[in-house]
Amino acid sequence: MQAMKIATWNIKQAVAPKKPLPELWDYAAEVIGVDVMVLTEGKVPGDGVPEGWTAVWRAEGIGERRRWGTVIAARNGVEIVDITNGVDGDGGFVISHSWPGTVTIVDVVQDGEAVLTIAGIYGITQDADGNSVGHGGYSVPNILNELVDLVNSPRGERLVIAGDFNLLPADMPEELYEIMIDVVEDTSDLREPLDGCTRCSFDGEPCGHLWTHKNGGGPNGAVQNIDYVFIAPELAEVCVDVYGGEADFEGIWEVSDHAPVVVEFEF
Ligand SMILES: [Zn+2]
Repeated sequence: MQAMKIATWNIKQAVAPKKPLPELWDYAAEVIGVDVMVLTEGKVPGDGVPEGWTAVWRAEGIGERRRWGTVIAARNGVEIVDITNGVDGDGGFVISHSWPGTVTIVDVVQDGEAVLTIAGIYGITQDADGNSVGHGGYSVPNILNELVDLVNSPRGERLVIAGDFNLLPADMPEELYEIMIDVVEDTSDLREPLDGCTRCSFDGEPCGHLWTHKNGGGPNGAVQNIDYVFIAPELAEVCVDVYGGEADFEGIWEVSDHAPVVVEFEF
């Protein structure tokens, strides 16, 4: 039996980072301590990928004024293979990218075997014309459409879609819940209720969402679950633990305005 932990975490490189970038990578290694990280609003330090890590990312970032994007990084001997732009031939998949740099896709290889395919996504807060809309309500459904061929390929059976969706639970695209499992909602009854959960999808019932984003915009917007991990139904039996949010990473708001979501698998 092999254990593997993965996490998604937004490290706030778009606006006013809370810590120098190398410290954020150290925090990922030492405090979050997982094997594979999806880092949204991410960057690699100027002097390269920190020791102990390998990483896949788009050096240009999302655009000229956005030199940050979705970085996927691995450690502990886990290999990641960049398949962001698709794979040719039988069993492959095609993909287009409306917002290059927001979506990074890797095969995750442990002991020579591809055990997961991870699509790290960032729900950019823009519409088709590049106007700011303040949430991922336009971008996320488009990004998911662009992933359909991947979902339907053989990799779909080991697929994880993780990232910062910039969408509150009640605003998430329903279609995604028909084909994949939201690991946090699926384990919601194992956690303490999240007080003040903004636009909760549990309809007033106590929920076990995670506080993954501390919105600075006043008390009503403060407690937000906007970072997600979805897994293929085929992975349900190897998914053994789900945790994260402010509850499991005390002091996280000193480091970023987002808290990680962590998922453990046993293969
Ligand atoms: Zn909730």
